[in-house]
This record gives sequence, structure tokens and C-alpha cells, in this order.
Amino acid sequence: MTIFSKTRARLDALSGEGRTVSLWWRDDDARWSTRALGRLLATAGEARLPLALAVIPEKAEASLAEAIADRPEVAVLLHGWRHANHAPAGEKRAEFGDHRPAAEMAGEIAEGRDRLQGLFGERLLPVFVPPWNRIGTAALAELVRPGLSVLSVYGPARCGGPAELNAHLDIMDWRAMRGLGLDELDRLAADALELWSSDTGRSHEPLGLLTHHLQHDAGAWYALEHLLEVLAGHPCVRWPQVESLVAAALAGERRPGGEAEARAGGPLVRKVASQ
Ligand SMILES: [Zn+2]
Repeated sequence: MTIFSKTRARLDALSGEGRTVSLWWRDDDARWSTRALGRLLATAGEARLPLALAVIPEKAEASLAEAIADRPEVAVLLHGWRHANHAPAGEKRAEFGDHRPAAEMAGEIAEGRDRLQGLFGERLLPVFVPPWNRIGTAALAELVRPGLSVLSVYGPARCGGPAELNAHLDIMDWRAMRGLGLDELDRLAADALELWSSDTGRSHEPLGLLTHHLQHDAGAWYALEHLLEVLAGHPCVRWPQVESLVAAALAGERRPGGEAEARAGGPLVRKVASQ
């Protein structure tokens, strides 16, 4: 049996309907250059795909900036402060889950933004990726002042909050701490495409692939590389630059109803504001 047969069939069906789907790729938890990062960048390079690195700012190193210096298709997003859990025992883990004073969280967000801006300059896009994909109401309100206008979590974008550019397909089996098997990943990818294509409210939201290069076992790399062969090579799939997806999220293009519906006077990508 051909691997990723369900995903291929779903993409073929979309092609048959004359539709295209935009995908993007977020990889979390980078701080410095490692062998695993080298493999990630090589994988993205071979597939000729843009990549967004969600970088943990505390202890982030110049070696990471050097590793992507000649890779303009690699964008940087702010991934919390130090990926520390502040939720009480028994609750789901969160660094910015409103378990601390808002001023303390705001200080860390601003410091993290400053650190990444210093290391990566304009590669840093105005996107906040909260560790464990969780953020509380108070922390959410603290994203505005430092110019982090777009939130990136896991699952369908929610209405009524900030613009979201989310991930929807995680290649890891976190209970087993290894990559999903090929059949399971195929099923989840096909399901994500099915949900995306059947829900008009979501069909303007780019589908996000989520990886964690530091946690990948051999199976995760194998599955990722084969999944990308399918997703990067299919005629109905588009992989816009991450910067343009952020601009579209800010402009409201993923609202239901069709054509881009830019907010009046809305800028394109707002670079992260300096204080
Ligand atoms: Zn993380």
C-alpha cells in the first residue's frame, strides 16, 4: 500500500474540485544550533518550504541566528519566555496561563521580544506562541503593547480575540514521546484536510504543521520527510511565506465569506514594535 494514501486521496479530491489549500510549518522550542536543528533546516531546504521557528528567548543564542542567516525563508516567532510551567499541580501546563501577576508576565513577554529582536532583527514576526499552546485572558491582553498582534496556538482559530495563525497537525505522539506512526499521521492529516475543506468557516485559515525537532526520534523524522513529499509536491497545496500569512491574518483574510476583507487602514506585516 502506498504510504499516506488517505492524505493523497484527500488532496486529489480537492484538486478535482479545483481548490487549493495553504499550509505552513511551525517548529517549536529552538534556542541554539544543534544537529537536530541542522536536520530540520536540511529537511525544509530539500522540500523547498518556508519554516517558522518558535524560539524560546531566555538563553537563546547567536548560534541559532547564524544557522538561519542564509535562509531567508525561515521566520522567527516568540515562544514564551523560558518555557517554565506555572500551573499548579493537577492543572494542564502553562507558562502564560494567568497563574501570575499580569505585570510579571508582561515583563517577560517584552524581555523575550527584545532578546529575539536583538538576535534576529526583522526575521522576528509579530506572533506569540505560548508554551503548551495555552494562554490566559490577562496574558493575552499583554500582547498588544509589545506589538505581538498575532497568536499561534493549536487547533481552529477562535473568533473575537486577536488574529490567529495556528497549527493543526502535530506529528508527535506525546504520551509515547515519539513520532506518530505513518498510518496514524496519515489518518490525522487526511482528517485535518477533510475538516478544513468541509467547514467554510475554516477554509481561509492556513493549515499548520507542527514539529518539535529536539524531540524527534528516527520514526518522527521518517514520517515527517515522507509527509512533506506528499504535501510539498501536490498541485493543490500552496506554501506561502510565513510573513505573508501573518499579514493575511492581520488583514482578516481568513474570515469566512471569501475575498480579503482588510480592516480599514490595516497595515501589512507590522514589524514587532520597539519600545
Ligand atoms: Zn514549546
